[in-house]
Amino acid sequence: MIPRTEAIVVGAGIGGLAAALALQKAGADVRVFEQAPALGEVGAGISISPNGALGLRALGVLDAFREHAYAPEYQFVRHYQSARVLATVTRGDRLAEAYGERYYVIHRADLHRVLADAVRAADPDAIVTGERAIAIEQVEDGVEVAFESGLRRRADLLVGADGVRSRVRSILFGAEQVRFTGFVAWRGLVPIERVPLEAMDPPSQVFIGPGHMINRYPVRGGQLLNFVAFAERPGWEEEGWSIPAKVDELATEFAGWHPWVTQLIAGVPEQDLFKWALCARSPLMRWVSGRAALLGDAAHPLLPYLGQGAVMAIEDAVLLGRACVAAADVPEALARYEASRVGRARFVVERSTLQVPRFHSPDPDGFHHDVPVDEALGLFAYDPAQVPV
Ligand SMILES: Cc1cc2nc3c(=O)[nH]c(=O)nc-3n(C[C@H](O)[C@H](O)[C@H](O)COP(=O)(O)OP(=O)(O)OC[C@H]3O[C@@H](n4cnc5c(N)ncnc54)[C@H](O)[C@@H]3O)c2cc1C
Repeated sequence: MIPRTEAIVVGAGIGGLAAALALQKAGADVRVFEQAPALGEVGAGISISPNGALGLRALGVLDAFREHAYAPEYQFVRHYQSARVLATVTRGDRLAEAYGERYYVIHRADLHRVLADAVRAADPDAIVTGERAIAIEQVEDGVEVAFESGLRRRADLLVGADGVRSRVRSILFGAEQVRFTGFVAWRGLVPIERVPLEAMDPPSQVFIGPGHMINRYPVRGGQLLNFVAFAERPGWEEEGWSIPAKVDELATEFAGWHPWVTQLIAGVPEQDLFKWALCARSPLMRWVSGRAALLGDAAHPLLPYLGQGAVMAIEDAVLLGRACVAAADVPEALARYEASRVGRARFVVERSTLQVPRFHSPDPDGFHHDVPVDEALGLFAYDPAQVPV
C-alpha cells in the first residue's frame, strides 16, 4: 500500500465495514462515516455462501463470525401447499471440501457487530456515526467530502458504500430515479417455541408457490426462526422503502399455504415484522471516478434470489484491499479494483434476476435441480483472496 494513505468510507453497513477492515489491513488510516445516529443492522437473517465466508476469512473475522453463525447440512425446497420436498440442497461438508468453506446463516446484527468490532479493534475512532455525506469534490491528489453537519474531510481515496439509494453514486455518476422492481420482501423473527417441532426437520427450508416464496432458517443459536417472504406487487405506494408491517397483511398474502407457513406467519411478534420494497438502479460499467469508488449495493444492487448482495459487498471489499496492496498509487489501486469486480458483479446481478420465475413459479411441481443453481453457476468457486486483481 501507498504509505500513510487516508481513506474515507461513506456508510457503515456490511459493505462499508468490510471495506474499512480491508483498507485497514492494507495499511490505510480509515474513517467510516455513517448517517445513522447509532450503528446497527436490521433484525433479520442473512445467508453467507462459501465465497462470502472465504472473504470473511481473508478479512480475519471468520472465527468470530462462526461463533454466531449456523451452518446447515442441507435445505429442503418444498411445495407451498403440500410441503412435498421438491429439491434437497446440500450445504454441508461437501461444500467445504469443494470450495474451502461452507454455507452459513446468521443474524445480520451479529455479522455487522463482528465487522464493527474488528474495525474498532484496529482503531477505536475509526467509525463516526451521525454524519450524512452530502457533497464530494475531487481535489489535487485527493477527495473532499462535505457532511450535512458542516464537517468537511479530505482523504486520498473515498469509498461510497451507502447502499441502493447511494448519494455518492448520484454525485459521481449523475442523479437517477431508484426503481421499484415489483417485488416486496417481509422479514420476521419468530421465537422458536412458537414453531412446531415437526416443522423444523430440517431447520432450513424454502417454500415456493405462484408469485410467492418464503425462506426460513434459525439464527441466534436456534432461539429464533428467521424468515424472508417475497411477493409481487404492481407498485409501491407506502411512505418509505422499508416500513413496519402488519401480520394480517402478510397472512392474507400467504393464505392457503401449508400450515407450517401460515403458523410461522401467525407466530411473528408484530414489532419484529418489516416490509421492504426491492429496488434497482441501472447497471454501471464504471464504479470509479477520480479518487472515489463505489462498493456493495451502491455499485450493484441486486434481487436477493441467490442470496449474494452482502456476499458481493464482502468480495468487493477484499478485492479493494488487495488492489491497494498491489498498486503503486491510489489511481492504480482503484483501476485494479474496478477491473477485477465489475464483470463478476454484473453476472451475479443478472443471474439473480433470472431466478425469479423459478422461485415464484406458477407450477412449483416442475421445480427440480441436480445441483443447486447458485453452485451450478459457479458462484462459490470464487475465492476473493486468490482471484487476480
Ligand atoms: C429481503 C432481503 C434479503 C437479503 N438476503 C441476503 C442474503 O441472504 N445474503 C446476502 O448476501 N445478501 C442478502 N441481501 C442483500 C444484502 O442485504 C445487501 O446487499 C447488503 O446489506 C448491502 O450492504 P451495503 O453495505 O452495500 O448497503 P447497506 O446495508 O444499505 O448500507 C448502507 C449504509 O450507508 C448509510 N448511508 C446511506 N447514505 C449515507 C450518507 N449519505 N452518508 C453516510 N451514511 C449513509 C446507511 O445508513 C447504511 O448504514 C438481502 C436483501 C434483502 C432486501
